[in-house]
Amino acid sequence: MRLSREEYDEQAKRRAIEAGHKLAAFKARRAALRALGFKSYEGYLESEHWRSFRRLVFEAQRVRLGLNRNVCESCSSSKDEINLQLHHLTYERMGNGRIEDVRVICRECHQKVHGIKSDPREVRGR
Ligand SMILES: [Zn+2]
Ligand SMILES: [Zn+2]
Repeated sequence: MRLSREEYDEQAKRRAIEAGHKLAAFKARRAALRALGFKSYEGYLESEHWRSFRRLVFEAQRVRLGLNRNVCESCSSSKDEINLQLHHLTYERMGNGRIEDVRVICRECHQKVHGIKSDPREVRGR
């Protein structure tokens, strides 16, 4: 499909706005991490600080749902072997996070949220 000049400009504009939002979120995250004394996000994810927050979020979800296991809040999958992660809805309170700042979500849904295409070979059958 060929795009008209206007459609093309419109798309380019939208992409620029999205990129701007991502950059702002990234900068906010970096500033928050610096304030906490972490050099990188990866470093933070290794920290006891993050681990205990993560435990808290998983626990809270089980209590809220009355389950003894956690589920992906996007696709509702709750298989034992499922790889659950936390997706930040905001980085505003990074390091001082509230449970509602993140969502429990599986790796596959998380990749979709961030626009990373997962390798189709990795997608598990039902
Ligand atoms: Zn999922
Ligand atoms: Zn995320």
